[in-house]
Amino acid sequence: MIMVDSRGKIALVNVQIEKLFGYPRDELLGEPIEILVPEAVRSEHATLRDSYMACPLARNMGSGRDLRGRRKDGSLIPVEIGLNPLSFGGERYVLASVVDISERKRYEKRLRLVVEAAPSGMVMVDRKGCIVLVNSHIEKLFGYEREQLLGKPIETLIPRKYRKKHPAQRDGFFQAPSTRAMGVGRDLFGLHKDGSEIPVEIGLNPISMEDEEFVLASVVDITERKIAEQILREKVLELERSNQDLQQFAYVCSHDLQEPLRVISNYTQLISRRYAGKLDQDADEFIEFIVEASRRMQGLINDLLTYSRVETKGKPFTTVDVNKIVEAATANLKLAIEETDAEIDCPSLPFVTGDETQLLQLFQNLISNAIKFRSKNPLRIEIAGIRSGERVTFTVYDNGIGIDPKHADRIFVIFQRLHTREDYEGSGIGLAICKRIVERHGGSIKVEAEQGRGSKFVFSLPLAGECL
Ligand code: ADP
Repeated sequence: MIMVDSRGKIALVNVQIEKLFGYPRDELLGEPIEILVPEAVRSEHATLRDSYMACPLARNMGSGRDLRGRRKDGSLIPVEIGLNPLSFGGERYVLASVVDISERKRYEKRLRLVVEAAPSGMVMVDRKGCIVLVNSHIEKLFGYEREQLLGKPIETLIPRKYRKKHPAQRDGFFQAPSTRAMGVGRDLFGLHKDGSEIPVEIGLNPISMEDEEFVLASVVDITERKIAEQILREKVLELERSNQDLQQFAYVCSHDLQEPLRVISNYTQLISRRYAGKLDQDADEFIEFIVEASRRMQGLINDLLTYSRVETKGKPFTTVDVNKIVEAATANLKLAIEETDAEIDCPSLPFVTGDETQLLQLFQNLISNAIKFRSKNPLRIEIAGIRSGERVTFTVYDNGIGIDPKHADRIFVIFQRLHTREDYEGSGIGLAICKRIVERHGGSIKVEAEQGRGSKFVFSLPLAGECL
């Protein structure tokens, strides 16, 4: 505290002033107050002091300006000064409180440096919504110079249609300040100086300094991300459309081809029956080729139809007891299982949500493959299902001939086989159907196998709703 008379002479100081300015009391008393004012502003100070004395009021000195005091050693200290007029003994005085704000200034400087160095736009706003700090990213993002923003309401950077609601939202934030994202679930936009709107993501961090609350907001321009998301959405739609077209195409083709093929097949069989042995030997052989080829083609077309029906004729999902599915599949394959003396190990399996008919097809295909591609060792098939989160991971393992890992992807492609029909019968549709069924249930299927060491098919299905 320091008291100055109407002519600007120091009348009283306390110990804190002595310490702060480095003068012993007797070197200050009776001296003009300007002794404690930096040289550069001394003459200006004397004038301001006179005008204050003409109309003295209790107020802060030089509000909005940085004030400094001058110490005895010539160094300057940032200060905040409160002025209080007093009068006694017919004399008028000013009692000034002087606060050393070096620490706060250092803190502010550090904050400014951190804000400037931040990799995204940063803007600090006080309780009233006034911008007190911005970094260069904000200048670039919104097209303003820093000076054009400082002291302005934050609504300057908000599109007109959101402005009205903003002060209330800001008040809400200050009532329960926490570090959080702004407007979760809403699309946020900033307003560029040129009037354009910028999609942004905003993080809010409350900061308190000297009893004042602020919010430091990080602002990230997400234009690129929004464009990428839009492109992705369009691509997904395009893909869905072309997938549907393809499905439709496969279905129509296989369906419509069936009829003429049936005619060809019937008539070649008729020719074969009626003219066998009546033409020459070559003719008999050629007819046999045609009969065989048309039979194969019918098989392929049927497979194609089954494949395309996974999507087009899929049934709604229900809760399915996979234990019953495995039971039904093994019952359907009873003969083959007995013939090969296969041992099937299947502990209790979790319930899933799915298309019962398709799940039967899935397990039956995998078990029948395990039987078909057995080795010379006694056949053992192990089926297991382990819950992982909201899905169940199933494994169907056999100790058969195994698969060369380099063909691990190929075997799931339609009509792709690793063997000739002479070695193992089949058309190469089974695993392609399995893949489609699993995908329709939101999962994927893969094989973990080695040549000669058995195969393990791994896939996941959604856990039944009531088990969640
Ligand atoms: P297909 O059984 O009619 O040949 P799939 O689509 O069911 O058609 O299988 C494709 C290929 O994957 C088979 O030809 C076979 O080479 C291989 N494969 C499938 N399952 C097994 C298995 N359990 N063990 C070894 N190889 C298998």
